[in-house]
This record gives sequence, C-alpha cells and structure tokens, in this order.
Amino acid sequence: MFYINIIPKIQFFIKTDPHNLNKSLPTIPPDPKNFQARDLGLYIHIPFCRTICAYCAFPAFAHKTAQIPEYLIALQKEIEIKSRLFRHRKLRTIYFGGGTPSLLEAPQLEQLLTAVRNNFDCSECLSVEIECNPESLTTEKIYAYRRLGLTRISVGVQTLDNRILKRLARPHNADASLQALAALSQSGFKNFGCDLIIGLPYQTFAGFRQDVEKILTCHPAHLSIYFLMPDTPKINSFIADCPGENEQIEMWLWADNKLSKAGYNHYEVSNYALSDFESKHNLRYWKRQDYLGVGLGAHSFYHGTVWENSAIFEEYLKSPGKPDYKLRLTGELLLNDFILLALRTSNGIPLAEFGHRFGEKKELILSRSAEEWIVSGHLIKDDNKLRASTKGWLILDLITKKLCF
Ligand code: SF4
Repeated sequence: MFYINIIPKIQFFIKTDPHNLNKSLPTIPPDPKNFQARDLGLYIHIPFCRTICAYCAFPAFAHKTAQIPEYLIALQKEIEIKSRLFRHRKLRTIYFGGGTPSLLEAPQLEQLLTAVRNNFDCSECLSVEIECNPESLTTEKIYAYRRLGLTRISVGVQTLDNRILKRLARPHNADASLQALAALSQSGFKNFGCDLIIGLPYQTFAGFRQDVEKILTCHPAHLSIYFLMPDTPKINSFIADCPGENEQIEMWLWADNKLSKAGYNHYEVSNYALSDFESKHNLRYWKRQDYLGVGLGAHSFYHGTVWENSAIFEEYLKSPGKPDYKLRLTGELLLNDFILLALRTSNGIPLAEFGHRFGEKKELILSRSAEEWIVSGHLIKDDNKLRASTKGWLILDLITKKLCF
C-alpha cells in the first residue's frame, strides 16, 4: 500500500460538492474576539517557468514570460482589492510560490512586496518566503532578497542526477543546484532549504542516498522530500522507468533516519527542519489558519470558506481575483479536513481542541476508530494528541480515509 500524495502547493484537499459552489467572494464575518481569525497568510502565485517539467501539475507557463509585466499589474490590482476586503487583518506570513518566482527580476519582486506592504498591515509579519529554481537564483538575487526582507528561500533541486533532470525537462543541472546552495550558504543566509523527489525515472536507492548526503554538506536548514504523485496523468509516460514501491519506501525510511540523526525535526509528513526553521507559512495550511491566495489559480481559506481564482491566464488578467468557485466547509467536511491536515504534522490531532470544536461525541467516535491503528503501531496517542508514527505516515491516505466521518 502506498498512498502518500504530498505537494504543499496543492493547498486544497477537499472533494468539492458542485451543489455547494458559487462564484461570489465570501462574506467576511466580523470576529473581533478571535485573534487567530484576525491574522492571515498571503500566498502570491507566479506562474512562469523556464521549461515545463514532465511531471508538472501546477498552473505554470513557459511561453508567457513576455507577459510578466502585465501579470504583475493584475496581481497588484488583486492585492489592492483583497486588502480592501480584509482590511482589519494583519499579515503574519507572505509566500511567493509558483511556477518559478525566482524568474522575476529583483525590482519586479520589490514592486510586488511594496504593493503588499502598502496595502496590508505587515507590522507583525513573521516570515516572507520564496520558491526558487537553481537556474534563476543568482548571488545578486540572494543579496537582493535579503535587502527586500525575505526570510526563507526554498530551492527546487529535486535530484542531483543529470540524466533524470534531463528526462524531467528541468531547466538546470546538478552543478547549478549545488552552486545555488553554495551561494546561499556563503551569503550567510541561514534559512534556506531544498526540495527532493522520490520515485523519479531512473532513480536508484544509491543515487538518492548520494543526493541527500551531498546536499547535507551545504547545510540547508530545511528539506522537503516528496513522492512523485502517482495519479498525475503526465507521469504515465515514464512510470515504467520509476523505482518500485518497495524501493521508494526504502529511500523514504532511510532519509527519515538520516535526517533525524542529523538533527532535523520531521515536522510534517514531507518536511524536515532544524529547530525554528520550519516554514511558517506552510504551517498555516496544516493548522487550517486563514490565508489568502492571490494570482492565477491561487486558493484561499477564510473562516471555513475556501475559494479558488481562475486558472485561465487571460481570464485572470481581465478580472484579477474573481473566484472561480467557492465552497463553505461546514459540519463533517470541516471536521474531516481538520483530521486530514492535522495528521500530516508531527503534532497530530490535539484531542481537547478537536472535542471543543466538534463536540465530545465526535471525539469519542474518533478515539474509538483510532484504536485499531494505535494497536497496529500506525498511530500514537500521547499527551492527549493523536499522531501518525513513521509507518503510519506511509499509509496516511488510508488511515485518514478510515478515520474520517
Ligand atoms: S518548476 Fe514547478 S511549476 Fe514550474 S514546470 Fe516545474 S514542476 Fe511545474
């Protein structure tokens, strides 16, 4: 059984019920007492890439870079619109994701950050994070990022095997990745990390192990290790060249052991960080705290309502921020979402909070359903929390399916 589908950019985990959808913006309920509800994370989507990777499942374009200035104007418009709608909310985190945000020149990034800072209260912002690709992360950009107040840089390395990188149509080779990591390390920028993927075509256990060992010599503060999503249709074209399930599990377990020995905290099913270097923005998703997504196809979650911007480029330019659909999470939908996200984290489900939010009866039912998984060693109950063990994380989809109401 091999069920983990883990890509943090996909922030929307709920199966949508078409009867619940509508296309207006959510009503913003006043909630002056609830501090948690008064702050927000802001996700900014930059949908441009140098090439489109063979496995890509995100809204990204390689042939639209000439339209970057036009897109940035639309983004700024959306930032202004959203700031008027959410004007009493403080931004706690800002995250540039994509796509490849590092394709933007430093003045373009500055233009966006200025729009955010002019329109939102950023006085208590804890982190400003950016996803980069090695081929577009230069030393100049690293220094510009520091000047602009970015606090965390994540580099899409994926593998250090050039044959695999070529097969995936990644726009960089292993040297470019190592140079980018070395430049980050030499710049004194401590909070940087990189992404790796397990399950790539031609990948072997020995090759994966070498990649992790080489990357650790660059001292990243954070490592994300994902499995290639088996249900992405594009993957069918090379699935026959990918390592088998057992070999992939072997890689994942080896990495888990290696990284925990090296002092990394496995704080989310696919994320490891040295103490205090977790992604503060991504933690908001897993804790189901409010966030706004601006840009093409971006998702938002606010007070139990999720909505998604149009993923059609021309439509987005015409009406930036017009939601494609909206869904109110109530009752069991909200409860199941809570279980699913909480079990991804090392903290797991805080049972007292669960009981408080969803009622003692539901808490009792959850505790009863969890019993068989506790006996089998896939779940652990301690400190009034229910969390997945390492072997539980490997079949998280199955466990959550059984636990959900
Ligand atoms: S870098 Fe990411 S977003 Fe861009 S094409 Fe590759 S997988 Fe897609």
